Amino acid sequence: MIIRARTVVSMAGEPIDDGAVAVSGNKIADVGRFDDVRQRQSGEVLDLGEQILIPGLINAHCHLDYTMLRGTIPPQRSFSDWIRAINAEKATLTDQDYIDSIRAGFAEAQRFGTTTILNLTAFPNLIAAIKEPPVRTWWFGELIDVRNPDDAERIADEAAELLKPARRWGLAPHAPFTASQRLYARCEEIARRENILLTTHLAESREEMEMFRSASGAAFNFLREIGRPMDDCGRETPLSLFMRTRTIDQRWIVAHLNALDAGDFDLLDAAPKFHIVHCPRSHTFFGHTPFALERLRALGFNICLGTDSLASNSSLSLFSEMRELLDKEPRLSPREALEMTTVNGAAALGQKNQLGCIRAGATADLIALPLRSSTDVFENIVAFEGAVPWMMVDGKITLPV
Ligand SMILES: [Zn+2]
Repeated sequence: MIIRARTVVSMAGEPIDDGAVAVSGNKIADVGRFDDVRQRQSGEVLDLGEQILIPGLINAHCHLDYTMLRGTIPPQRSFSDWIRAINAEKATLTDQDYIDSIRAGFAEAQRFGTTTILNLTAFPNLIAAIKEPPVRTWWFGELIDVRNPDDAERIADEAAELLKPARRWGLAPHAPFTASQRLYARCEEIARRENILLTTHLAESREEMEMFRSASGAAFNFLREIGRPMDDCGRETPLSLFMRTRTIDQRWIVAHLNALDAGDFDLLDAAPKFHIVHCPRSHTFFGHTPFALERLRALGFNICLGTDSLASNSSLSLFSEMRELLDKEPRLSPREALEMTTVNGAAALGQKNQLGCIRAGATADLIALPLRSSTDVFENIVAFEGAVPWMMVDGKITLPV
């Protein structure tokens, strides 16, 4: 099939006017000007008219478990209060609620043009009930052993067994304040053995910083109260703890990194580079310390975008995330914001040149957006609101349904 559009934005070169993409099976066979592609390739032509064809978007951090918590938790005085509030909400939900929530999340992500999701789930046991997600999904088991640290290895091993059938999977020891060193170590062991990816939340809030650096503050008190051993607190920053205790490599996709001090930047400068996920609207919801985008980029980190969960966000639209980021970062261009939801996300998932771009040999995950103005095509893309009119995932047209 040859798909023609007014403009093709491949993210692997400059935008192509009167462009076309040839798809064979689930792969992109060719991309270029329509006349050239039609000469080189055979097959029926689908003309999308006055639309922009771009790679499907990649959400590098979300928790579809909590889709149904949208709007239920107002911003709190402290991050610990928010954790208390979400725990209270979670206590009222059943397995079926979570399954419905995950399904609704997939449908919403798809409507907003996301074709690949890195989804953290606290319930790997429910994955089998989610038949065929409509978008490409990496399932990450979100693991916490703060209430039962003696079970660290069992928790990781059981999650791995449940996740394996999903094929694209990884492990997510939740955060250094809820996952023990033993749990992190076991996840790393499994990751090396199974060749999977790892993700975690790190240095998200000021309270996490205060807890580890000064052994004080709301998070410190909250976690001590629930019985967490606090002997790792009072010495170093969360980042320093992570870097000192973990094997840092390209397997790690680290969410947040908001609360960093001067010493942390020295550590990051010298460190092997991992991937970082920023969640712009969730960041605003919590009022976190400003995210050091320019500094982290200058240090050579690959930075992607995620939505986080709807317990701290209003939708699963990555277009809205790009706009929020551009509002906060006037030096960032719309093209760079789009890179963060396409090629950068693909690199984090180990899928460079396969996902997040339109090039021969890549997987055919594509979306089309109406061309609404004669301004810069990247401005046109990030300004898009609402449901995308057309989508292809793995070579199959999935929107319109
Ligand atoms: Zn998260």
